[in-house]
Amino acid sequence: MSDSKLVLEYGRLFRALPHPYIAFATDDPLFTIVEENDAHGAIAFSNPADTVGKPVFEVFPDTTEKYRLTGESDLVESFRRVIATGKPDIMPLYKYDVQNEDGEFVERWWRVSHYPVFDEAGSLSIICQSTEDITELRLTEQKLEQTSSQLESALEIGLVSTWSWDIASDVVVGDANLARSFGVTPEAAAKGLPLKIFTDSIHPDDQKRVLNAIQKSIKHGAPYEEEYRAINKHNDTRWMIARGKSQLDTVSGNTYFLGVNVDITERKEVESELKQSKTMFDALFESTILSVAMADLNGKVLQANKTFLKTFGYSQQDLRKGITSLNVTSTKSRGVTNKIYDTLRLAREVQPIEKEYVTKDGTTIPMLVGAAMLPGSDDTFMAFMLDISENKELKALNAAKDEFIGMASHQLRTPATVVKQYLSLLQTGYGGELSDEQLLYIEKANNSNERQLKIINDLLKTAQIDSNRFILKKQTITASKLVSQAVNELADLTATRMQQVVVDNNAGDDTVYVDVTELNLILVNLIENASKYSPANTTITIQLSRKGHAIAISISDEGVGIDQAYIKHIFQKFTRVDNELSDTVSGTGLGLYWVEQITKLHGGTIEVLSKIGKGSTFIVCLPRED
Ligand code: ADP
Repeated sequence: MSDSKLVLEYGRLFRALPHPYIAFATDDPLFTIVEENDAHGAIAFSNPADTVGKPVFEVFPDTTEKYRLTGESDLVESFRRVIATGKPDIMPLYKYDVQNEDGEFVERWWRVSHYPVFDEAGSLSIICQSTEDITELRLTEQKLEQTSSQLESALEIGLVSTWSWDIASDVVVGDANLARSFGVTPEAAAKGLPLKIFTDSIHPDDQKRVLNAIQKSIKHGAPYEEEYRAINKHNDTRWMIARGKSQLDTVSGNTYFLGVNVDITERKEVESELKQSKTMFDALFESTILSVAMADLNGKVLQANKTFLKTFGYSQQDLRKGITSLNVTSTKSRGVTNKIYDTLRLAREVQPIEKEYVTKDGTTIPMLVGAAMLPGSDDTFMAFMLDISENKELKALNAAKDEFIGMASHQLRTPATVVKQYLSLLQTGYGGELSDEQLLYIEKANNSNERQLKIINDLLKTAQIDSNRFILKKQTITASKLVSQAVNELADLTATRMQQVVVDNNAGDDTVYVDVTELNLILVNLIENASKYSPANTTITIQLSRKGHAIAISISDEGVGIDQAYIKHIFQKFTRVDNELSDTVSGTGLGLYWVEQITKLHGGTIEVLSKIGKGSTFIVCLPRED
C-alpha cells in the first residue's frame, strides 16, 4: 500500500457519513454553510449542491416560535457559545419546521449538537453540527404523556384504583382511590390491610363468586376479572370491575396479586336506564290497545305487534311475506300517508293525526297515528296507532242529539209562540172584557209561556251553535242603536222591577258589522241577566266605548255578583251558579254559553268582572267597522 493511497479525502468521508452533518463558518452573523452531507440533505429536504456557500438562515429560515416572538435564535446562541467557549454545545430539544419539496412546512423535532473544529494553528475554523431527527420519538413521547395524563385524571376522579396483594403475608396495599371506594383511610390502605377488610365490603350476593375467582386465578396463574358491588361504610353501593393477575417476584420469591379496580357505577346506571326504557318500550309493544309497527320509509312493515296484526287481520306469516303501508291505508287516506312520510323525513316525528286505515278484509277503521324515526336511523320509524272508531261513534251520536234538540225546540217554539199571541189578544181585551181574577190567571199563564219560550230559545241556539251550522247574516249598524233597541225591548221588565237603565255612549256613531238579530239576542240576554240577578231599585249602566279597533259594550249591575271561583265556569253549558236569587230566578244555564259562542263567531270577546254582593259587569267587545 503506497502512502498516497492512505491520504483520506475528509470532505468525501464527511459527505458519505450516514449520520446527518452540516458544517458552518464562524462568520457571525452569517454562519455560512461550508459543507452539508447527503444524510442531512435528506432529512432537511435540502440539496447540498445548492446550500454550500450560503448563509444558514437563507437556506434554513428560523421557523421557531421563539424567533418569531423575540427575534432571538437558539441556533445562533448555540453557535456563539461554541465560539466563546471552544466547547461542544448540545441544544435543548429543538422544534424547527422544514419546508418539503412542495414548499409546505413539516413539523420536525431535532436533537442538535455543535462541535468546534480547530485548524492547525488551534483556532476555531468550523462549527460542525450533528443533527438527529427525533420527530417520531417526540410524537410517541407526546402520546405517552397524553395517555399518562388521561390515566392520572382517571385516577384523580377516583374511577381507577390500583392495588397489590402480598399473598403469603396477606397484605393488600392500595392507593387513595381504593381506600375511598372501600371506605378505609388512605394511610391504612397505603400501609397495607388484610384482604378480608376489602372482601368484607363486597355485596353479600357477589362475595362468594369474587373470592372463588381470586382463588382460581392464583391456582392457575390465570387473569382474574370480576364485576361486583362494594358497599362502603356510608352504605353507598358502587359497581366495580376488578382485574388482576398473580405474579412471582423473582427477587423476594413472594407471589403478588396485582390488580386494578375500575368504578363502573355510572356505566351501570346508564345500562339500567337503558334497560328500563327497553322494558317500557317492550310493554308498549305488547300493548293490547295500541297497534305498533316498525317500518321503513318505503312503507315496508318490518315488525308489528300482536294488536297491529289482530286489528288489521294479518298473520305473522303475512308479515314475513311482506305488508306495506299501502295495504293498510284506505284510498281516501293516501294523501295523509304521504304527508306522514314527508314530515318524518323533515322533522323525524309526526304528532298524532287522524287517518283512515283498512283491514285485510276491506273494513275501514279511523285511527289516530303518531310516528317517530328510530334514534340513529334515517330510514326506519315506529308508528303507533289508536283505534278511534268508538270515539267516532260517540261524535256521530252527539251530532244526532244536537239535531234532535234543534228539531224538537223548533217544533216546540211555534205552538208556544202561538200561545203567546192568543194570551196577548186576551190580555188586550180582544176576546171581551175580563175580570181581575181572569187577568191574573192570564198574567201567570203569560209568565210561564215566557219562561217556556226562553228555554226553547236557549236550547235552539245551543243546538244551532253545536251543529256548526250557524250562519251569520251581517249588516252595518251603529253600536248605540243595537243597545237602545235591546234596552227598549226590556223596558217593561226593568220598569216592573223598578230598575233604572242608564246608557252612556262614548262611541258616537261608530258602527259594527254584525248579525243584528243575534247581537240583539246577546244584549237582551245580558241585560235580562243584569236585571234578574239584581234586586229592585237598582241601576243598570250600559257603557259604549272605543277600545283600539273594537267597541266595548259593558253592562254593569248592582246585583248579587258572582263568586270568583265560579266565574270561569259561567260560560259553560248548563252552568247555573247558586246565589241568593237563584231560587226565585228561572234559567237554563245555557244563555251565557251561546252568548259567548256567537260573540266569538263575530270575532269578538266577552269578559266579566264581578264582586259578590256588589254587582257584575259583562263586557262585550266587537270589531269596529272602519
Ligand atoms: P241562566 O239561565 O242560569 O241565567 P246564564 O248562562 O245566563 O244562565 O248564566 C249562568 C249563571 O251565571 C247564572 O246561573 C248566574 O248564576 C250567573 N250570572 C249570569 N249573569 C249574572 C249577573 N248579571 N249577576 C250575577 N250572576 C249572573
